[in-house]
Amino acid sequence: MSREDIDMEEVEAKIQNRLSLLANIEQPRFIHKCICFAITRKCPFECRRCFFCGSKDGESVSVADAKEIIANLPDDLEEIVLTGGEPFVNMRLLYDVLTEIKNRRFPELSRISILTTGFWATDREYVREIVRELADLGVRILLWEHLTNGIMRQD
Ligand code: SF4
Repeated sequence: MSREDIDMEEVEAKIQNRLSLLANIEQPRFIHKCICFAITRKCPFECRRCFFCGSKDGESVSVADAKEIIANLPDDLEEIVLTGGEPFVNMRLLYDVLTEIKNRRFPELSRISILTTGFWATDREYVREIVRELADLGVRILLWEHLTNGIMRQD
């Protein structure tokens, strides 16, 4: 099809139609205030396609910096997702960050999640114990989504 074959009136009508549809879209009534906090780049899997360049030597946030970051988050935050890298490579740091979040007492915070490969979940009793400890620190959801990234690291 050459340029001359294009019916510009028809194109213009289609554009106007799309624009009027967009103009009539209802504005969102509600904004979910969520942050994703990557506490480390360290990850045993080193997937080639990792968006965060996870590596065995990846650096982690210091506890002091994490405290400062958490202290400066907005009061009306509703959700926090902790991620990496693999947040479970440094349990002490993970627990320190969770304790800091708990102590900050965000009044609107309804969910803390952790995105993990699950590499640490090798023993049923150990998993139960960790889940109990995490629940005490306010964690409600463990997201196992990038387990498949770990498995498919040679992609
Ligand atoms: S498992 Fe996830 S965090 Fe780790 S290297 Fe792969 S994509 Fe990155």
